[in-house]
Amino acid sequence: MEANTSNESILALDVDGIVIGVYEDFSTIRDVIDLKPYLQIGKFKGKQGGKRLLFNVTGVKTPMVAAVGLGSKDKADEESVRIAAATGVKLLRDNGAKRVGIASLGSAKATAEGVFLGLYRFDELKTLDADKRPTIEELIFTGTEEEAREWLIGKTIAECQNFARRMGELPSNIATPTYFVEQTKKAFDGLDNVKIHDYDEKWAEKQKMGAFLSVAKGSDEPAKFLVIEYKGGNDGEKPLAIVGKGITFDTGGISLKPSQGMGAMRGDCSGAAATIATLLGIAKLGLKINAVGVAPLTENMPGGHATKPSDVVYASNGKSIEIDNTDAEGRLILSDALVYTEKTYDPHTIIDIATLTGAMMIALGSHYIGTFTPSDDLWKELEEAGNTTGEKFWRMPLDKKYKKQIESQLADIKNTGGRPAGSITAAMFLKEFIGRDRWAHLDIAGVAWAEAEEGYKPKGNVGAPVRALIHLASKYSSS
Ligand SMILES: [Zn+2]
Repeated sequence: MEANTSNESILALDVDGIVIGVYEDFSTIRDVIDLKPYLQIGKFKGKQGGKRLLFNVTGVKTPMVAAVGLGSKDKADEESVRIAAATGVKLLRDNGAKRVGIASLGSAKATAEGVFLGLYRFDELKTLDADKRPTIEELIFTGTEEEAREWLIGKTIAECQNFARRMGELPSNIATPTYFVEQTKKAFDGLDNVKIHDYDEKWAEKQKMGAFLSVAKGSDEPAKFLVIEYKGGNDGEKPLAIVGKGITFDTGGISLKPSQGMGAMRGDCSGAAATIATLLGIAKLGLKINAVGVAPLTENMPGGHATKPSDVVYASNGKSIEIDNTDAEGRLILSDALVYTEKTYDPHTIIDIATLTGAMMIALGSHYIGTFTPSDDLWKELEEAGNTTGEKFWRMPLDKKYKKQIESQLADIKNTGGRPAGSITAAMFLKEFIGRDRWAHLDIAGVAWAEAEEGYKPKGNVGAPVRALIHLASKYSSS
């Protein structure tokens, strides 16, 4: 799809259809047109997510107008804009429009995010034309120079999030750790101030990453430890560090998962995908910060060398871990990654992202990201980023009372803490491998997948929380 910008009035665009945002009082953005006579009858009330396709509207050059609801005028926020923009372009696309025009629905950035996230589809593995749905060939954004600039920022952020969605959605026979590395190199190709390291298992052995390697052992697929360094800030300025869980397929290992629904475990690398995508966004937007992204990548398989329950391994900080359950592998690979990141980069802030626990899904469902941090300041920054970008965080406890559940008879610590508070004991485990206060663990197990297409979210991997983290990073940027 071609995406262009223009400064013509949206009403004068020579396209197949345009998107017009409508509030609950039927007024439109900047009162560009009075649609009230067309909207008074019927169910459309301008509510968030609402839509109505209009034909042959007087004073409009294009044959179709997609009226989309922005909700009440005083409450309309970026999220209403994203949903409305996605709803509008999809409505026109599904009605055969090949050329579509849109203007800012209140925020040009959020409009672009809604459009490009909404039009995303994962159909690259389908070979039959019959399976392909209609597409838009040209999209024209019309607005001021300032709005066009904001639009491009939103487009970039959405494309990065779509990169995360794709990497999380791809099946594991394609998206192996090696493929992750290749795709990352391809995505960053030509970008300034970026250095990519793809370390192998031999390197990890030298780093004494016994926890990471205990997971990789059960698989024949070579593991990778991917590091992306971005230097947009000053020399010696501490970086922001993002660490993502990259289990490209999780069978559970010897503690094998039930077969029903196991295919969804191709998405157990969503944390790594979001990490890479966030760094990609930071680099593409040229943020004036230093940042590092770290992704331990491996399968979790029950091969002949697989780790067995009650095996004891040593993480790279020397701590001994009893592997109580081999399906609690995410915290194992993250423990070595956190130790490495902290020791190598001394970041001012370190955030890990992981589809870590089923318990998180039980606790918060699919609307909030379970957030564990000892830092009140970092919590406030995340909360603001979540509210702005529509990827919302909810703070969970990190109380040392939970530590008791992960005490081990054999080793310093064990990798599971029983059924009660399963997401909290997982966070308590990670805390053992972190020395600083400005650390946050984001458990995205509940939000990584959408059961059905809705608004700007596709069915399947949603690429969370790339928007929120790029927003957070932009707050640290000096301009
Ligand atoms: Zn697992």
